[in-house]
Amino acid sequence: MAQAPTAQERAGLRRIRRRRTVLLVYIAVGLVGVAVLASSRHADRYAMFAFALWLIGAIAPTLTVGLSRCPRCLRRFHGNDSQGNVFARACLNCGLRLDWP
Ligand SMILES: [Zn+2]
Repeated sequence: MAQAPTAQERAGLRRIRRRRTVLLVYIAVGLVGVAVLASSRHADRYAMFAFALWLIGAIAPTLTVGLSRCPRCLRRFHGNDSQGNVFARACLNCGLRLDWP
């Protein structure tokens, strides 16, 4: 049985969940933007420029999520020496689950 997180750890988990939500919203906005742009008359003119802007804008939220520290083990929550996964449901180092309330 996993040890329940402390109040400080729960606050850290909420922060990680919030960062992941920002990343997912950013990705969703990008997908909607692609759909809107693809239906536009000017798709050929602006598509690469818009994609480049979106890609540059994705750096910050992706790094923010990818470099988030686990509130328990203080190592990277979404990565360890051999793997990385920004959508991991638990810390890849200590196994602290993200879905604690
Ligand atoms: Zn951990």
